[in-house]
Amino acid sequence: MLYDNHGRPINYVRLAVTDRCNLRCFYCMPEEGIRFAPKRDVLSYEEMERLLRVLAAMGVDKVRLTGGEPFVRRDLMSFIEKIAALDGIRKIAITTNGTLTAPLVRHFKDLKITSVNLSLDSLDPRRFLEITRRDEFHQVMRTLDELLAHGIDTKINTVVMQGRNDQDLLSLVELTRNHPLGVRFIEEMPFNGTGAHYQDWVWDHRRIIAYIREHYPSLTKIPAPPHSTSYNYTIEGHPGTVGVIAAYSRTFCGTCNRIRITPQGLLKTCLYDSGVFNVRDLMRAGATDDELRLAILD
Ligand code: SAM
Ligand code: SF4
Repeated sequence: MLYDNHGRPINYVRLAVTDRCNLRCFYCMPEEGIRFAPKRDVLSYEEMERLLRVLAAMGVDKVRLTGGEPFVRRDLMSFIEKIAALDGIRKIAITTNGTLTAPLVRHFKDLKITSVNLSLDSLDPRRFLEITRRDEFHQVMRTLDELLAHGIDTKINTVVMQGRNDQDLLSLVELTRNHPLGVRFIEEMPFNGTGAHYQDWVWDHRRIIAYIREHYPSLTKIPAPPHSTSYNYTIEGHPGTVGVIAAYSRTFCGTCNRIRITPQGLLKTCLYDSGVFNVRDLMRAGATDDELRLAILD
């Protein structure tokens, strides 16, 4: 089992399979996109599979595929099939914008894909377009329908933004009335996709909960599962739950159990660090599995 310098057990890896995306959410990427990494700089599927095999032998049993948008990478499903077969990998989760996902959902259960986080910032097609700068709302809703129809554990992740989608908070909460899904509101990290901070950051986790409680007085906190990044709540009579992720206030570091791998193979021990070492360089320099394992332990 892997432990970090703070004694936190690490059993979860978030693997960004690409830096590319087909949306341009204004808080994440500039309109013209970022300078995407050339293909040769990005970990190949073989390299990612090898890395996961080594990590699984060290006690990592959960993988989250993220990006960029994971489904823009070609043949992602074949890669998932391979990692689902790795000894020790028990859970595969995906974070997706849902634009390309709907036709694939029926295969998820067979591939150990136990949960999906669907990013959805608005239930209004016009506001969705303003936020993501792409007209893909209906595709995302199709994905949501498919996830629910196939009984996949689904969480909707919504970044809460002053004046952009605060009108949507209550209609998103309403989804929990008839569906067994989690709707989680994320504090916006005010970096604006370019590193520039801005001033009018007002929706912290306390305000989000106070606002929802005004409209749903039965909102009740429930115990969080271990390593949860969200505070979770139920509303009387609703099969779904509501959560808040204090991404900016950072209230969850103490129970963090994850490491991150960037598309270029940088291993990060924290969302906010700039990378500890590069597993790609090590693998391409000819490291054995044991050398890779020792470098990770180190
Ligand atoms: N493209 C996929 C998606 O959107 O779900 C996966 C990658 S995306 C970077 C992962 C999550 O990070 C999304 O839910 C997105 O809303 C969130 N995110 C991106 N930039 C953010 C920011 N500045 N503040 C808070 N959340 C952010
Ligand atoms: Fe793409 Fe996800 Fe970033 Fe939006 S948040 S631009 S969907 S990577």
